[in-house]
Amino acid sequence: MACSQQAKTLSHILLACDIQTTGRLVFGMVYDKKEARTKFAATQFRPIMDHWLEAMKAADGIEFDRSKDTVNASRKQLGGVNSIFSFASTADASLREGKSAVSSELAGWSGDWLLEEERSQWPLGAVDVAYRRLDNSAIATKPVRSWGTPGAGLGVEKEVRAAEYHFYPHGQCEECGEVYPVDAFGSLLKPFERTDAYGQTTIAHVSESHRPVEWFHHDPENPVGSAYFACPHCEAELTERSLTQARFKCLNTGIRLRDFLDGLPKDIPSHRYRVALHYGPLLRASKINLAADLIRNGLEMADARDWVQQGLGHPTAPGVNALTLPILERAIAAPSAPRLPEVRLAGIDQGRSGHHTLIKDVSLPLGWQSMPVAQVMEKAVR
Ligand SMILES: [Zn+2]
Repeated sequence: MACSQQAKTLSHILLACDIQTTGRLVFGMVYDKKEARTKFAATQFRPIMDHWLEAMKAADGIEFDRSKDTVNASRKQLGGVNSIFSFASTADASLREGKSAVSSELAGWSGDWLLEEERSQWPLGAVDVAYRRLDNSAIATKPVRSWGTPGAGLGVEKEVRAAEYHFYPHGQCEECGEVYPVDAFGSLLKPFERTDAYGQTTIAHVSESHRPVEWFHHDPENPVGSAYFACPHCEAELTERSLTQARFKCLNTGIRLRDFLDGLPKDIPSHRYRVALHYGPLLRASKINLAADLIRNGLEMADARDWVQQGLGHPTAPGVNALTLPILERAIAAPSAPRLPEVRLAGIDQGRSGHHTLIKDVSLPLGWQSMPVAQVMEKAVR
């Protein structure tokens, strides 16, 4: 799992090259959409595989007879070994009505190893269908690699939550010596007590609308421009060396990635390991004040969920816009609204799903007339 703009796809393409050439095994690379398959299989996989083959020839003198190989949009054979390129979504949403939410491309092939690209963009249910493609895998543990940017709870972050090992970059503070996860939650955004619309208090790092609330800064007159990354233990400003020298350490078990990998069996393991690798956004070397840039983005972006997911590499917790069973139960038990909503908004072609029409009632908090605008917007129930 990672925030956007990191080389997670490249590392998996290199893995795919190794599976097909050295392992002589069939991998299935599954993209979220048909367009992604068409574009990336040609522009990302093929040139990298060409370089890979040149390197194999130069280093080890290994060459493949490709005279009988088939190469098309969904198959790229190499020396008689298949590779499969597929996609999870039905190609045309307008044809999806009443049919499976999963593409027919996800049926009718069989592989040894499954690679799932942009896993958080897949339709629900597609993962189970894709996994069936490994039923006849030559590897008993049926290996799967999924990667993506976290979504709103059901994407790649669901796999991360279920993993036995969750490796996250950890740095060491040069001031107090403590080891800390290099995470905007804790090292930039301070934890605070957040009370939701139902009066329940939780510890959070962003507001219910996913905006920054409290963060480390040097100058109270200029809290955005003077934002900085701090050690969550001693609050000293973290040095660039401490951030960029971070090493993966497991949040569940405390083991370091290096030690975990060295301890793995040399052959194919007899059981599956569920391992999550989580890249954070603070590891990028930056010539600008990255802390200030992140806070500014969080305050200014139109949809702050994107900021939390793409910018900080965290899933967004369902806020007041999402319906959960406890919210529904409270709504059933609640007395009917004593007043009409203060604001009714209507628009066409709305939201990520492109709704034809969306009508939204907004109830402002009691006493809103005397509150600052930001607070009214924060506490308004939609
Ligand atoms: Zn410290």
